[in-house]
Amino acid sequence: MKKIYNLLIVLLLFALNIHGEEPNIIHNGLGFKYTPFIEQVCNYLKINNTQIIIKPIYSKAIAGRAVKLSSNYYIVYVNRQSKEYSTYFILAHELTHIQQDIYEEWDLTQPTTIITSYNIRYTNVEAEKTERKAMKNGYALSKKFNKFKYW
Ligand SMILES: [Zn+2]
Repeated sequence: MKKIYNLLIVLLLFALNIHGEEPNIIHNGLGFKYTPFIEQVCNYLKINNTQIIIKPIYSKAIAGRAVKLSSNYYIVYVNRQSKEYSTYFILAHELTHIQQDIYEEWDLTQPTTIITSYNIRYTNVEAEKTERKAMKNGYALSKKFNKFKYW
């Protein structure tokens, strides 16, 4: 009986390993104080087995942007001139876009907005929904998790 029990445990561990949630590999070029926040938000959004590179940009036009390199491999650009609270918002917003891509709510290779010289508009109704959710998460998660720091 004990042997069967041990075998069941081994099989269970094996199954957990196959379907287990592997941690993400995050290369954070923004500064390591943001890493616990990024990890908490990824955890909350159920982003697993994913490689994410966070890169600072210096731009007057863009606050942030998420780019898909291949499946489970993304770059998040964050405007380094943003205030600290905005940086948390941008991270949570862009990580939501990655979640939407992983869970097939929105294909990240498709633009959600069209920017012209006089306005910004959504490409379609689904794109607007996608952005609204990312905005909502951006505010909510930046408030919820910005206390997670190393010191
Ligand atoms: Zn967005």
